[in-house]
Amino acid sequence: MPNFKPAQRLAQLPPYLFAEIDRVKNEVKAKGVDIIDLGVGDPDLPTPDFIIESMNKAITKGENHRYPSYSGMNTFRECVAKWYDTRFGVRLDPKAQVLSLIGSKEGLAHFPLAYVDPGDLVITSTPNYPVYPIATMFAGGEIYFAPLTEDNDFLPDLEAISPDIWKKAKIFFLNYPNNPTSAMAPRSFYEQLIAKAKEYNTILVHDAAYSEMYYNSANKPLSILEIPGAMDVAIEFHSLSKTYNMTGWRVGMAVGNAELVQGLGKIKSNIDSGIFQAVQEAGITALEKGESFAQEMRDIYKGRRDVAVAELCKIGLDCRSPEATFYIWTKVPKGLDSAGFVTKVLQETGVVVTPGNGFGAPGEGYFRIALTVGEDRLREALGRIAKL
Ligand SMILES: *Cc1c(COP(=O)(O)O)cnc(C)c1O
Repeated sequence: MPNFKPAQRLAQLPPYLFAEIDRVKNEVKAKGVDIIDLGVGDPDLPTPDFIIESMNKAITKGENHRYPSYSGMNTFRECVAKWYDTRFGVRLDPKAQVLSLIGSKEGLAHFPLAYVDPGDLVITSTPNYPVYPIATMFAGGEIYFAPLTEDNDFLPDLEAISPDIWKKAKIFFLNYPNNPTSAMAPRSFYEQLIAKAKEYNTILVHDAAYSEMYYNSANKPLSILEIPGAMDVAIEFHSLSKTYNMTGWRVGMAVGNAELVQGLGKIKSNIDSGIFQAVQEAGITALEKGESFAQEMRDIYKGRRDVAVAELCKIGLDCRSPEATFYIWTKVPKGLDSAGFVTKVLQETGVVVTPGNGFGAPGEGYFRIALTVGEDRLREALGRIAKL
């Protein structure tokens, strides 16, 4: 029998943290329990009809059946630039500063291949989207975790990172509005961060996947690129997935510093061949005509958020109301750890929530609720937890 020794990067992958939850979930399901899944950050409602109709038209065009361009159709990139200008007042050169992505996860995962050499140091805020440290590891980089804690409003303490670490840091990964903590970052934070990045020659990678999931239109999430100086040091990753219920379509974009965008583009042109053009055409429709739909979704998630927060308060759990994202990040009851609480809830109520430590050590003591079921199901889920 051949014996295929996996590469180090495969062997080094952390165990799949949700494997144990999946196992218990299947066990509970097999008993016939009605499972309510508040675990995965995937919108439950379908892509709206106007986007599907646009796709239907685009799919019949012969020119869309051929290889797309590596960096994205000009029309798609122009549309992204226009959307950034309208939404954030950020001016982008569509040819030099916009790159299409097969979902933002793809771009985030490939970015370190363009800028990290073995041994280079990369900072990521944590709890975090797992892609940042794993993509760094694939490129041979070392990771420094900057914790997000309630004391710091879930913003990394930039002064607590020593000058020695800053000097070595090639990249700093950040994500606001944040998954899983639902925190937003104020302008002053970005200003300090950009000053540090310039001082220490550090690339800022900002993941803005949730910029359109906000509940206070007087305090909309910022693009890092709105901040003076950002264009010198930052690349921002964005996605149509969450805003327009398009997670299955795989369409996103990287924008910002031209050199960084093009560095990523070079890596990608050797790996993939772009996004199906029909999907890009549907993406253009989403960006051009999707604002009122995005507002409808915000209203729906806001309703759900208010139900969940009210129920959590009733139970006596920590019930801060998030201003953005479709997540609630809240503390497990005293005397339990994240994994213990989540397993108990699942076994005894059939409700799936995510243990905070699955996103990194500072997440211990928390769990995450995804607002991806309707208000009645949410009430039912939290009612079951209340009875525990
Ligand atoms: C969902 C999500 C994304 C978006 O992923 P896509 O690949 O664009 O679907 C990116 N970052 C974070 C933190 C997310 O939660």
